[in-house]
Amino acid sequence: MKYISTRGKSPELSFCEVLLGGLAPDGGLYLPKSYPKFTKNDLDEMRIMSYQELSFSIFEKFIDDIPANDLLEIINKTYTPEVFRYNRSSQDSKDITPTLKLTDNLYLLSLSNGPTLAFKDIAMQFLGHIFEYVLAKKNKTLNILGATSGDTGPAAEYAMKGKKGINVFMLSPHGTMSPFQAAQMYSLHEDNIYNIAVKGVFDDCQDIVKAVSNDLQFKKDNNIGAVNSINWGRILAQIVYYFKGYLDVTDNSSKLVDFTVPTGNFGNICAGHIARMMGLPIRHLVVATNENDVLDEFFKTGKYQPRNSENIFQTSSPSMDISKASNFERFIFDLLDRDTSTLNGYWDLIDNGGSFQLDKKNVDLISVFGFISSSSKHENRIKLIKQFYDEYDVIIDTHTADGVKASLDHLSKDTPMLVLETALPTKFEGTVLEAIGKKPPRPEALINLEKIDQKFEIFENEASLVKNFIRAKQ
Ligand SMILES: *Cc1c(COP(=O)(O)O)cnc(C)c1O
Repeated sequence: MKYISTRGKSPELSFCEVLLGGLAPDGGLYLPKSYPKFTKNDLDEMRIMSYQELSFSIFEKFIDDIPANDLLEIINKTYTPEVFRYNRSSQDSKDITPTLKLTDNLYLLSLSNGPTLAFKDIAMQFLGHIFEYVLAKKNKTLNILGATSGDTGPAAEYAMKGKKGINVFMLSPHGTMSPFQAAQMYSLHEDNIYNIAVKGVFDDCQDIVKAVSNDLQFKKDNNIGAVNSINWGRILAQIVYYFKGYLDVTDNSSKLVDFTVPTGNFGNICAGHIARMMGLPIRHLVVATNENDVLDEFFKTGKYQPRNSENIFQTSSPSMDISKASNFERFIFDLLDRDTSTLNGYWDLIDNGGSFQLDKKNVDLISVFGFISSSSKHENRIKLIKQFYDEYDVIIDTHTADGVKASLDHLSKDTPMLVLETALPTKFEGTVLEAIGKKPPRPEALINLEKIDQKFEIFENEASLVKNFIRAKQ
């Protein structure tokens, strides 16, 4: 399998090459040249597979430059019940991503049982192991530069800490993460982990990462790599749980299901889109946003107008507080039937602070790709966290609550709906307390997390400062 850039002006690469890079040299994102297809029969055969076997049968279609046995070993090291152990007590952690039935046709797909209690662990733990493997093979080192609004950073750092040949430089918006999120990162004292708190919002952090990555000489001289959701390896790892969730709630492979995905950078739902392109019978992919609803606007009108950072709301589902969804370009590439010249035109507008409007024919295609959307507000989250606690005795986090809101807007009688649970509630306990009058339970091992000494640097919002810092640490 070869990989191509959405901008159409970069060389084709193999999986391992794409894995270690970030953006393509032309500023685009890598995608496989074509999507492998799974038939109904293939899906039926997958019904008896473990999470690990499922991962292998999907990954092997996308990865042809790692021997099968090695790939299997990486998967088995990554997806263990010990690592994904923070499950709700009634569920089986051997499942890695267990499905919890709430009521007829409504399910939670639990993706947040890993070390940092957010779905990002599923992809990031895989990257930790596969990066270490690939770097050792190539006898290389990697400086991972990332930006986080609160969940990517911890997931990346827990996956990479102590890994050979890897340093992590993680930018986070100073003072806007939940205390628990900040403590997860800043309490790590490993030599290969550098926390940089930027005086700005998440998009400023993301823009610094882009600016540094666009300096190709610097990138090359300093072996810069990415673990942001633009990293193809992350998207790939996320495809698996759409299959797992589908197989859990259906008994035959003609049945259609809907997924609702709390969405920020569009990485999670992009994996759902690809699963659907691979033949997984998904009817609707419901994009759930919070008050930062640029994507909701797009999926309703075909107009994509990112906000600038002054116009981003800080909400109680902060991991979705972004104005520009970096993986969105991957979907538009497919929507445009991979017409790179139209895409380049659109992204010239976006990169200059503008917007674009799809023409009528392409607006109609949005529904052909299964996409619909909804947005929600703080009051919706509060109400639904309480309602789900009262009705189902299940405490959901604020992001999952955004998903639940959207799923209820679009729930239908005949089709199972899976809401992706993107974090455990203890990560956002302040809002949960507001909703139900008590704090959600926290895993024993994490009870004193906020009390550990914190290590981080505070930087002005400037790419050059970050470059100097990385250089100095080599
Ligand atoms: C990252 C994150 C999201 C958004 O996921 P994307 O892949 O960026 O769309 C939603 N909820 C939580 C809890 C997250 O950490």
